[in-house]
Amino acid sequence: MSDHDIQITLRMGDDVSAEFICRAPEGSLCRKYCDEPYQCEYITQECKDTHRWSAFPEGQCNIVTWLSESGLWWEMYEGPEIHELKSAPIVATWNGDVYTWEYA
Ligand SMILES: [Zn+2]
Repeated sequence: MSDHDIQITLRMGDDVSAEFICRAPEGSLCRKYCDEPYQCEYITQECKDTHRWSAFPEGQCNIVTWLSESGLWWEMYEGPEIHELKSAPIVATWNGDVYTWEYA
């Protein structure tokens, strides 16, 4: 099951744009950050299991922030070639460096 969507918008006289949306319930991992004094930048298993986690303010989602702010949405797509852009659930994957996405 996917907790994240891409919403594609095409407006007359404008570029195609995309917005990422988080539907994960409050308390989900993507809505929290490592709250240790040194704040792990990456979510390792050890961090997940043993560190203290706090919720981002205002329901912010780590995955949506990454996908929205770290590059062009089509360049972060990592899936099979497609011929139809659609608003739909996605799967976001951390590849050790950045998040990429593909349709769920
Ligand atoms: Zn999320």
